[in-house]
Amino acid sequence: MAYTSTMSLDPALQPLTGVPSPSRDSIIIVEDEAPMLEMLTYGLMKEGFAVQGARSGEEGLALVGAKCPALVVLDLMLPGIDGLEVCRRLKADPGSTGVAILMLTARDGETDIVTGLELGADDYLTKPFSLGVLAARIRAVLRRREAPAAPADPERVAAGEIVLDRRRREVLVGGGAVDLTVTEFEILWLLAGHPGTVFTRSRIVDAVRGSEAAITERAIDVRLVGLRRKLGDAAGRIETVRGVGYRFGD
Ligand code: CA
Repeated sequence: MAYTSTMSLDPALQPLTGVPSPSRDSIIIVEDEAPMLEMLTYGLMKEGFAVQGARSGEEGLALVGAKCPALVVLDLMLPGIDGLEVCRRLKADPGSTGVAILMLTARDGETDIVTGLELGADDYLTKPFSLGVLAARIRAVLRRREAPAAPADPERVAAGEIVLDRRRREVLVGGGAVDLTVTEFEILWLLAGHPGTVFTRSRIVDAVRGSEAAITERAIDVRLVGLRRKLGDAAGRIETVRGVGYRFGD
C-alpha cells in the first residue's frame, strides 16, 4: 500500500505525473510500521516537506525511481529487502545514486550504521527520536548537499576558531599556530571540511592513506587522541560517535 500526501503547503512541490522532476523539498519515507509512517509523514508535511510513504523496501525503490525525491528517510528494519539493501541498490543505480539518504536505526545498530554510511548514506538517526530533530537533520543534509562544490579557496578550511591552510600545512587555533603531524592534519582537514558529516574509521583510513604507511582503523583512534590534545579547548568540535566514528560539530 502506498499512500500519498495531498497536503503539501506548496502546490509546486507536489509530485508531477509523467517525467519526474527532483524537488529540493521532496521526501520519501520507507517504513513498514504504519503508525510510525503516518506520524513521520504528517509531521514532515507540517515542516513544509512534500512527503510520500512506502511500506516496504521494494515499494520504496519503485517510488524513488518514479519520483526522484531529494531525500529518502530509510528505516533499516524492513521485511523483505532490508534498509541496507535498499541503500545499496539506490547507490548502485545511476538514476538514484544522487538521492540523499537518512537512515533510521535501532539503538544498538552501530554495525548497520557503519555499513550504511560506507554504502553512501548521508546521516542516520537512532530510534526513538523527535520529529523536530528529524526535520533539522533532513535540512542539514539537504543544506550540505547544496553547498557549492568549489569553495572560494579549496586549499583553506575555516571552521570557527580553527583555520587550516593546506598549501602551507598550517593550522591556526584562535590565531595561534598548532603543530600537527601529516596524518593529524589530514584527519582534521577531512572532518573540519565536512561539518556535521559522520565519518567511519574506514572512511578516515581511506582519506589519510598515503600520509602514513599502513594506517589501521585502530590507529585512527590513537591519532585522534593526539590531535585533540594539540587542539586544546577547540578539541570539543570533534565529536566521537560511539561505535561509528567521528564528526566535526556543525
Ligand atoms: Ca521498521
